[in-house]
Amino acid sequence: MVPSRRLLLKHLAFRAGTIAPLGGLISTAPDGTVEVGWPEVVMRARRLAAGLLARGLRAGERVGTLAFNDHRHADAYFAVPCLGATLHPINVRWNLQETSTVLEHTRDRILFVDAGLMTRGLELAATCPWIEYIVRFGPPLDDEPDNPRPDTLEIIDHETLLDAAEPIAAWPDLEEDALMGMCSTSGTTGIPKTVAYSHRTTCLQTMALGLTDCMRLSGRDTVLAIVPMFHALGWCFPYACGMLGAGLVLPHRDLRPERILDLITDHGVTTSVAVPTVWNAVLAALDANPGRWNLDHVDRVVSGGAAPTEGMIRRFRDEHGVEVIHSWGMTEINPVGTMSPAATTREEAGFEPDRRLRHQTVAGRPLPGLAVEIVDEEGLPLPHDGTTTGRLLVSGWWVAEDYAFDHPDGDRFGPDGRLDTGDVASIDDRGRMAIRDRAKDMIKSGGEWISSLALERAIGDFPEIEGCAVVGRPDDRWGERPVVFASLHEGASLDVETVRDRLDHDFESWQRPDELLIIDSIPLTSTGKIDKKTLRAGLRT
Ligand code: AMP
Repeated sequence: MVPSRRLLLKHLAFRAGTIAPLGGLISTAPDGTVEVGWPEVVMRARRLAAGLLARGLRAGERVGTLAFNDHRHADAYFAVPCLGATLHPINVRWNLQETSTVLEHTRDRILFVDAGLMTRGLELAATCPWIEYIVRFGPPLDDEPDNPRPDTLEIIDHETLLDAAEPIAAWPDLEEDALMGMCSTSGTTGIPKTVAYSHRTTCLQTMALGLTDCMRLSGRDTVLAIVPMFHALGWCFPYACGMLGAGLVLPHRDLRPERILDLITDHGVTTSVAVPTVWNAVLAALDANPGRWNLDHVDRVVSGGAAPTEGMIRRFRDEHGVEVIHSWGMTEINPVGTMSPAATTREEAGFEPDRRLRHQTVAGRPLPGLAVEIVDEEGLPLPHDGTTTGRLLVSGWWVAEDYAFDHPDGDRFGPDGRLDTGDVASIDDRGRMAIRDRAKDMIKSGGEWISSLALERAIGDFPEIEGCAVVGRPDDRWGERPVVFASLHEGASLDVETVRDRLDHDFESWQRPDELLIIDSIPLTSTGKIDKKTLRAGLRT
C-alpha cells in the first residue's frame, strides 16, 4: 500500500493546522496560561521531532511522559508517534515501585517530566540506568533535587530542546501497524497491565470519536480535556481535536471543581470529558455557588470510566441544560467502546425526555468497528433482551490482541480476537449495552448475585450522600453480604434502616445492604474510580 493510503497519525492529527489556523490549544499550567494555535502546534511537533532525532531517537523505541495535560505534553503526543517511536504516558499517581515495574519492561531512554514531578522523575532515573534524558516541562521548581547521575543523565528544558534544531521537513512513512503508543492500567494482581496501540487502531478510534452519533464532536467545539493524558491515551482527544480543528483546553494538575468551572466559563467550553466523580463534584460546587458560573455555552459533557447515577444525568439536564453522554471503555480497547447520547435514532428522537434519559444511564451502543456480546459461564451467547446479564466480550478494529508484556491476565484475549472485559453487562434489542458490574465486584449472597453497581447508583442519588461504594463482606451464612461505605454532605446523617427502606421499591430484602459505614471520603484510584481494594482491606481489619 502506498504510504499516503495508510492509516497513519500524521495524515490525521495535523489537519487542524490547515483547516483551523485560528483555533488551537489553551494550556493552563502553573507557569502560565498559553494559547498555541494549531499551525504552531504542528510546528512545535516538528521542532520537537528534530530535537529528539538529535538525541538519537530510533523508530520503535518508547518515550515516556510523566506529566499532566498541557501543551508540552501535546507536543510529545504529536511528535513521538509521528516519528515512528512509541509514546508511553505513565500514570503520575502510581507509586515508585509500580512505575519502575512498568519501566523495567518499556526501557524508556527519554522521559518527559513535568517540573512539579521532577522528584519522582529523578527517583526513577536513580533506579533505571537506561534513562539517558529527562526533558523537563516548565521551569525548574526551587526544591528540584540534584541530578543523581550527572555523568550519564542529561536534564534538558523542553523549550530548549525545541529551539535547538531546525524543524524536520517531513514526517517519515511508517507501516500502519507501527506502535504509536503504550499505556498501562492497574491490575488486580498489583502488576500493571500494559497495552500497545498502533497507528491503525488509534486512527480508527479517533475517526470514530468524530462521528456525530458518538459525542457530536466538531470543529466548532471547545473541549476541556479533564481525562488525564497519562491514562488510556487521554481518550485520543488531542488527536480528535487535531483532526477536527476543535479548540482544546488543557487544565494541567488542578482539577478542583471550582477551577474546572472557571475554565469552562473563561474559555467558552462547549463540551468536556471526565469520570463521574468529577461531574458529581462539579454539581456540588454549582449548588454551593448559585449564579457564579455561566454554563450557557456548554452543550454536553461525557462521563466515562465508571458508572454515573441517573440523578447526576438528570440534574445536569434539568438544572443546567447540559446533556450527559455516558461512555464505557477500557485501556485494552484504545480506549472508548460505547457512547450513549440521549437520542441517536429517529425512533429515539420521538421519545419523551425521561425515556431518553433512561437510555443515557446505560453505557450505550458500541462505536462502529466494535462488536459486543454477552456470554454465560460456559461461554455460550446470551440473548439481547435488556435484562439477561452475562460476561461482556468485545472484538473489533481497536481491541488489543494481547498485553504488550507477559501478564497473568493475558488469557482474557481469545485467539478469535475476542476480549473478555471482566465486566458483566446486558444488551437490549436495539444494541444498547448496560454495564451491570465488574465480575469481581459482584457480591454472591446465598448463591445469588447482587450487583454492587446497581446499589451504588441507587444510593448515590440520596441527598445526604457525597460518595458511596458497595463491597461484599465475607459472611459465614450467606457467603458474602453487601456493605455500604458512604461519605455524607456536611451536617447530613443516615442510618442503614433508612437506606434499606428507601431501596425497598427496587431491591429485594436480601439484595439490600445490612451494614452502612460512614467514612470521611471514598478512596479513589489514580484514575478517579472507586478503590474497592482498599475498602475491602479495611473490612478485613
Ligand atoms: P481502565 O482500563 O483502567 O480505564 O478500566 C476499564 C474498566 O472501567 C472497565 O472494564 C469497566 O469495569 C470500568 N468502566 C469504564 N467505563 C465504565 C462505565 N461507563 N460504567 C461502568 N464501568 C465502567
